[in-house]
Amino acid sequence: MTFHELGLNSDLLKAVTDLGFENPTPIQQQTISLLASEKTDLVALAQTGTGKTAAFGLPILNSIDCDSKTVQALILAPTRELCVQITNDIRNYGKYIKNFGVTAIYGGARIDGQIKDIKRGVQVVAATPGRLIDMIERRAINLSTVKIVVLDEADEMLNMGFKEDLDIILKETPKDKNTWLFSATMPKEVERIARNYMSNPKELSTGKKNEGADNLEHIYYVVSPRDRYLALKRVADYYPEIFGIVFCRTKAETQEVADNLIKDGYSADALHGDLSQSQRDFVMKRFRSKTLQMLVATDVAARGLDVNNVTHVINYNLPEDVENYTHRTGRTARAGKSGIAIAIITPKDNGKIKDIERIIKKKFEKKDVPGGLEVCEKQLFNLVHKLHHVEVKDEEIESFLPAIYEELKDLNKEELIKRFISEEFNRFHEYYDNAPDLNIVKGAIDGAFGNSRTTRFFVNMGSLDGFNIQSLKDFLADAVKLQTRMVFNLDVKNSFSFFETESKLVDTFLALNSQEIEFNNRKVSLEVSQRRMKDGGGERRGGGGGYSGGGGYKGGEKREGGGFRGGERRDSKRPRKAGGFSGERSGTGFGEKSFGRDGKIGGGEKKKGFGKSRF
Ligand code: AMP
Repeated sequence: MTFHELGLNSDLLKAVTDLGFENPTPIQQQTISLLASEKTDLVALAQTGTGKTAAFGLPILNSIDCDSKTVQALILAPTRELCVQITNDIRNYGKYIKNFGVTAIYGGARIDGQIKDIKRGVQVVAATPGRLIDMIERRAINLSTVKIVVLDEADEMLNMGFKEDLDIILKETPKDKNTWLFSATMPKEVERIARNYMSNPKELSTGKKNEGADNLEHIYYVVSPRDRYLALKRVADYYPEIFGIVFCRTKAETQEVADNLIKDGYSADALHGDLSQSQRDFVMKRFRSKTLQMLVATDVAARGLDVNNVTHVINYNLPEDVENYTHRTGRTARAGKSGIAIAIITPKDNGKIKDIERIIKKKFEKKDVPGGLEVCEKQLFNLVHKLHHVEVKDEEIESFLPAIYEELKDLNKEELIKRFISEEFNRFHEYYDNAPDLNIVKGAIDGAFGNSRTTRFFVNMGSLDGFNIQSLKDFLADAVKLQTRMVFNLDVKNSFSFFETESKLVDTFLALNSQEIEFNNRKVSLEVSQRRMKDGGGERRGGGGGYSGGGGYKGGEKREGGGFRGGERRDSKRPRKAGGFSGERSGTGFGEKSFGRDGKIGGGEKKKGFGKSRF
């Protein structure tokens, strides 16, 4: 079946050809042929990624009269981003239609500009409910000429509490209009809308309810709550060419994860409802242009986003509502491409994985968080691949070559290759050498140790005693007469610190307590940390009373530091200097600006070591 056979007019055919659409998707086939022959209400079960925007956009454009400048089609969508995206798509489909106009109406931007756009006369409006009501109340828009209303992502609009707004808006539209409802899921409330607002709607579906795309792989890692962020970084390092969306549960967590990724040298930024519209637009622009590799987002902010070629969707936390999993993962594996959905879970989330499997009718694959060696191997081969395909600017480099050849003349090909590779590889290797295993070993979760292979210790010495990470590491390793690498994941606070070591060394370290070692006239005291398994920060054993180890914690510090702010962790900073390993996209990274949370430009400039690779 072709678009031509579906009876699209020549202007639309030309536009879809320009967009590279060769054949209609299943939902497009159904809607275009149905709506060309019948004026009807419609309920379509279709997820984003199935081509649903064109599935309602093309029939709308096929039926409007551009000799008239009245609003004939109204599309309601839950978020500003989706509204803008729909508007852009429809503008593209209608670009050859004479006198055609479409505009977006959404909150967070100046209303006067939007009022002007409407006054100028457009046939199609895409709007978020709240701002549209504002327009209606100001009598800035006339909906009495509307022939088609589309409720896009209807389930999400209801989730977001737009039910009453929809009632108000739909009252403003004529009774004899047609309503087309598109929804990824069909909960009871959506069915109720279909019953209340529609008469004998035709029902269309692009497959079984809520079924995930076939070309999407679902995997999960089980880690201790405190290792969630480290696991995320492992994933990012393991997939050097990642172009992904990281979903968090709250705005605060979204901002925190993004801030930490930026701080650790990754190309990332946050998208959530606390950002101003211009900040959100700026983030989206950078993500769409692939200047950003990772978009950290809340469910609501990233709902329905259509960005091409997203390779990974990472569930930093599983969604509160398991149905949202389908929405999240629908951001990847679009338009026939493949994608990977990763969930970073803690043992208590195992049940949720089962619930999701039931909904998506697919099995997850449990995988181990990649170990240091695996990451190094991936990075190495990625580097080799890039080296092989790098563009050589013969002219620009020519004048330097004689001196370079001279300097390297004693090296044969194999030596040269080894050295070039090592220049980058060593950094990753150093960083990941002895990196802790982040996988939870079955059964370990109930014990005092988050990971049975490593144990976290509290020690009553901190920065007030003159220690920093390195000196404390040296001090402790020296005290137990072991190599410094046996002391890792240090978190140095003012008057106390935490560190990790291999569990088999617990007794060796505890033995220091009986050796009466003194530092700064204080007895050095160690204790196995019980805090490891608690999620986030905050709570301490015994209601904040602190650790019993002599003279240590007096209550000042809130966090144990295992969380995000503990930037000093052993594998915290990304092992890159300006010229990092890879993953670099289109001139991104180093020196690049990004909006900080406060809205000022500048949050992202300190991207340590994430510049253009030398190769
Ligand atoms: P949507 O479900 O509307 O968010 O569309 C998902 C993606 O598929 C968008 O990037 C569209 O541009 C693309 N798309 C829509 N229809 C087609 C088609 N017939 N052929 C190829 N790509 C399409």
